[in-house]
Amino acid sequence: MGLWSKIKKAAKKVWRAVKATVRVVVRVIVAVVFRIINLALVWLPIKKKLRVQVLILRKANEDPVVEVADMDLALDYVKKTLNDKFDVTLKFYGKPGVQILPNIAPAAALSVECDSGAAKNEWGEAGEYFADNLAGWNAIPLSFRFPITAYIVKDIAGKIGCSMGLFTDYVTVSEAGVKSDSTLMHEIGHCCNLLHRDNQKNLMFPNDGRGNDVTGWQKFVFRNSRHCTFW
Ligand SMILES: [Zn+2]
Repeated sequence: MGLWSKIKKAAKKVWRAVKATVRVVVRVIVAVVFRIINLALVWLPIKKKLRVQVLILRKANEDPVVEVADMDLALDYVKKTLNDKFDVTLKFYGKPGVQILPNIAPAAALSVECDSGAAKNEWGEAGEYFADNLAGWNAIPLSFRFPITAYIVKDIAGKIGCSMGLFTDYVTVSEAGVKSDSTLMHEIGHCCNLLHRDNQKNLMFPNDGRGNDVTGWQKFVFRNSRHCTFW
């Protein structure tokens, strides 16, 4: 590799990290601002809306990770849980709201990591890919709707779903996670600031086989996230 291409590669890496840092910092600021605005409005007993776009990645052989119809189980569960437990209506974002991405995804985005590995992804090639395809705003919030993008990936190391909470506007669900009814809804819960609970009947129980119970406090926290809007 020549010196020039080495410099170009290093510069690309730095630029990617700068963009990721801006994304995460802006998201935290928006999360706090909207938490304060929402707190003032929390007593309004009006149904809120949550916008979701499901983007299915395409593997190296051009096949999608799953077909659009394979999402029905998880999306029906999301719709029902949002409505029954959070008093929130599911709205699909984008046209169509569930779609297969046209281009082959980079390997780094097809097989991701979670927890500390998710942060590594966010600052690397996978994070850039997820940011480029994100529903709604990318770095600067130009709209006052904050959709959640659910990326359907091939696999997630040791898990079937992942979310970085308020730090990103997307969640990942693996091919195996799509087959479990509650995984997508659980990750949306994290994206709307919910943490894990020990009670297996609770939506935020960490393992599969969970129920979809939520406490009054969880409902309050969820509805106060920037993703749940009155408009
Ligand atoms: Zn979890």
